[in-house]
Amino acid sequence: MTALVWLRHDLRVHDNPALFKAAESGQGVVAVYVHCDAYVRLHTIAPAQLDFVRRHLHIMAKDLTSLNIPLLVVRVQKPAEIAPELLRIAQRVQAGHCYFNAEYPVNELNRDIAVNQLLRDNGILVKRCHDRCIVPPGMIRNGQGDPYKVFTAFKKKWLQTMMPVAIKPLASPAKQAAVSDVTTVSIDDINQLFSAHELRDLSELWPAGEAEAYRRLDLFIEKSITRYLDQRDFPSIDGTSSLSPYFAVGSLSPRQAIAAVLAYTHGEWEGGNAGANCWISELIWREFYQHVAVDYPQVCKRKAMQAHTEAFPWRYDKTLFAAWCEGKTGIPIVDAAMRQLNATGWMHNRLRMVVAMFLTKNCQIDWRWGEDYFMSQLIDGEFTANNGGWQWSASTGTDAAPYFRIFNPISQSERFDPNGDFIRNWIPELGHLSNKQIHNPPPVDNYPRPIVDLNMSRKETIALFAQLTPVAH
Ligand SMILES: Cc1cc2nc3c(=O)[nH]c(=O)nc-3n(C[C@H](O)[C@H](O)[C@H](O)COP(=O)(O)OP(=O)(O)OC[C@H]3O[C@@H](n4cnc5c(N)ncnc54)[C@H](O)[C@@H]3O)c2cc1C
Repeated sequence: MTALVWLRHDLRVHDNPALFKAAESGQGVVAVYVHCDAYVRLHTIAPAQLDFVRRHLHIMAKDLTSLNIPLLVVRVQKPAEIAPELLRIAQRVQAGHCYFNAEYPVNELNRDIAVNQLLRDNGILVKRCHDRCIVPPGMIRNGQGDPYKVFTAFKKKWLQTMMPVAIKPLASPAKQAAVSDVTTVSIDDINQLFSAHELRDLSELWPAGEAEAYRRLDLFIEKSITRYLDQRDFPSIDGTSSLSPYFAVGSLSPRQAIAAVLAYTHGEWEGGNAGANCWISELIWREFYQHVAVDYPQVCKRKAMQAHTEAFPWRYDKTLFAAWCEGKTGIPIVDAAMRQLNATGWMHNRLRMVVAMFLTKNCQIDWRWGEDYFMSQLIDGEFTANNGGWQWSASTGTDAAPYFRIFNPISQSERFDPNGDFIRNWIPELGHLSNKQIHNPPPVDNYPRPIVDLNMSRKETIALFAQLTPVAH
């Protein structure tokens, strides 16, 4: 009997619990990746991320083959076809077990339940491992046994839970006994998986693979982590790790990241290195939103986390929305950020908050439109972080920004891009303006006037939110 490993958003050989456990089981191992066309459409996966996954699979095929683990790939049209296809493959390679790493949002959970059921009904045991979060959802609870709604309290409990535990990422599995009659797919077979979709090659900016992820992690820790707290909000400074795409497809695990930081801080979680503490905090935000998706499953069904905010009269103005998407709102920091997103598949965190607040609070456009547009462009698009970030910005989510605290994009620009370096880089039309003028420019040829009045729209939004009545818990 062999062991089948179903790879999903865990495209690495090191510290991969499902792969490691399958290899430990002492049987031959076969890996499989299933691509579902409908899933890509349903989740508006960006062409840049699809191509990133494709490139990762090329590397995985090679890395796995060197361990005598053949990689198979399958393409299905609809989610309902996934379980029967996996059964077919499991039977073909004579698998006694199927291993995979858990994914927590509702669609993924239902998919995995269906696979578990069908495989078990056919005598194949399913082993679900925890990988995407360091502390699995459901394990961080307050004194009453309830989930946390507030990040700071969640973080405190998360740290209490983890600080006594040694974090030791798993090694790559040992070389396996060869599996007869099963050979790794070709590069063409992998490319064929994506033939129904547009792909966007951003390989120069975002090389694929776990080796690249470690290179970035090491470089960030060596050069930037100590100054992370001071630099992370300034988009013209390369002050963050740019690891989010690697976390999103799973070529880097959060355990590997935290272990590397703790090695640097000599095991201090909250000690002297304020930059390292702050970066660990960001990784806990990542965990928090994955827990939220399990504890408040309405967020997976296109619903606001806070039900009463569903009554907000969002606008569906396609002209305003198109101006935002294209970086033509007339607010330079917003436009520069959107142009960064459109050109690189990534946007700086501070600017994600600025553009999301501008769209929801100044244009009053439904946060779901922004959430979808981000997913359609981001190479690091990840449902829980994206949904969490949008609902936070729209004041509909857990630990929400209070609705009356609305970022003014011009003040944000003055504060976090004081010399206008980031704006000049993305909006050459404004390059000649002074450091003072560039944030709120006078009329300039080839650059639009603001599409909304920031002050009026802000007041209107606050008044509209004030009319909503929170539901008592
Ligand atoms: C509206 C909005 C949408 C977002 N959409 C996504 C998304 O689709 N995918 C995504 O990975 N992140 C998303 N984020 C979170 C954050 O902006 C990015 O993770 C971060 O900018 C990635 O850059 P970095 O890797 O250099 O981060 P660093 O600052 O180096 O942080 C390290 C890691 O921590 C995690 N992280 C950091 N901030 C957050 C956060 N606020 N929430 C959750 N995880 C965080 C990421 O995995 C990141 O790679 C979103 C934030 C907002 C406000």
